[in-house]
Amino acid sequence: MKWPSLNAQILAGAVLGVAIGFYFHGLERDDATVESWLYAFGLVGAVFIDLLKMILIPLVFTSIAVGIANLQAHKQVHRVWITTLCFFAFTMAIAIVLGMTANQVFRPGDGLDVQMFADAMQNFEANQLALPEFVAQFLRSLFVNPFAAFSQGNVLAVVIYALFVGIALVIGGERYQSILTSLREFNEITMQMVRWIMYLAPLGIMALLIQLIATQDASLFGSLGKFMLVVTGTTLLHGVVILPLILYLITKVTPLRFFAGAREALLTAFSTSSSTATLPVTLRCAEQNLQVRPDVAGFVVPLGATVNMDGTALYEATAALFVANLVGIDLSPAQQMIVFFTAMIAAIGAPGIPSAGMVTMVMVLQSVGLPAEAIAILLPIDRLLDTVRTAVNVEGDMIGSLVVQRFVKD
Ligand code: ASP
Repeated sequence: MKWPSLNAQILAGAVLGVAIGFYFHGLERDDATVESWLYAFGLVGAVFIDLLKMILIPLVFTSIAVGIANLQAHKQVHRVWITTLCFFAFTMAIAIVLGMTANQVFRPGDGLDVQMFADAMQNFEANQLALPEFVAQFLRSLFVNPFAAFSQGNVLAVVIYALFVGIALVIGGERYQSILTSLREFNEITMQMVRWIMYLAPLGIMALLIQLIATQDASLFGSLGKFMLVVTGTTLLHGVVILPLILYLITKVTPLRFFAGAREALLTAFSTSSSTATLPVTLRCAEQNLQVRPDVAGFVVPLGATVNMDGTALYEATAALFVANLVGIDLSPAQQMIVFFTAMIAAIGAPGIPSAGMVTMVMVLQSVGLPAEAIAILLPIDRLLDTVRTAVNVEGDMIGSLVVQRFVKD
């Protein structure tokens, strides 16, 4: 019998994970056997994420430095930069408009009383961060001692340092050929390790999904069900219709072909809720399944994993309007514009880790005078909402790399 492909195994792992998760959800939580199983699944999931994180920093550094060096050699780097940034900004703007419109149409906050959440809000201490501080903090996190950035897993700072190294390698030309060759070889070795780690993906994804579903407290969802539906529905609309449509119009890659190639990364993002942990898988899908040139993918995908977050941008804006609705504040058109821009900045600044969007959302709320404590209302449902928005964040990076490749075709 032929062993099923890795792609098929991952899909089977995800389906099994959901099914077993629901089974465990129905069981008594204080049963010792159930507890031990959940502990074991938690451990397997955590080891899978640890392996991805282990490989992350060397992979980001070598792909960007080598990618930039190759692109500079083709004199296409300006075009890549501009197309990448325009694509990121454009798609995040569409996502935000979509979320804000859906919120106006469905008004998920209507009929809910903020008093219902008074307890949670009272016990919550928001980490106050106003817009100017946030921008300053973001800018100052870009240029960091590379050794500190490497050891702390600070992806954005590693991206910036790798850009400098890549450009310096090109300017140095022949002189640094041996360093460039070593970096290329190191990059190949790292991709080989990603291949090994992916053998664990079906099991890792299954374990993460079992844990996620088995430990959700469904009673919390009652009052926020409509909000969850609106957010998830619009995020899916963006991910399943808008982004594939943009991709098709620009590159003629069909949605079917795209999703078949992107599936491993989308499922990993869904189950880990972390764009950065998923990055090794995203790069692999872009290069190997979607045939994006390594120099383009090596630049667009790691940068996208840290700054391009359509799902998060959509969520931040929709949640802010929801909170306004809940506390009975009617935002003026000017205030809505502020929400639009701060949601984009907050999404750009959010690191690709679970629930990062919740932390940066404090800034969006404060920008229009909404109570930061309202985050307490949304925290309990965040783990679930984070799954779909992270998958769409990662999808945007892969589509971005295909679009940019189309524009820099030789
Ligand atoms: N979990 C998301 C990501 O990694 C960030 C967020 O919380 O929105 O892409």
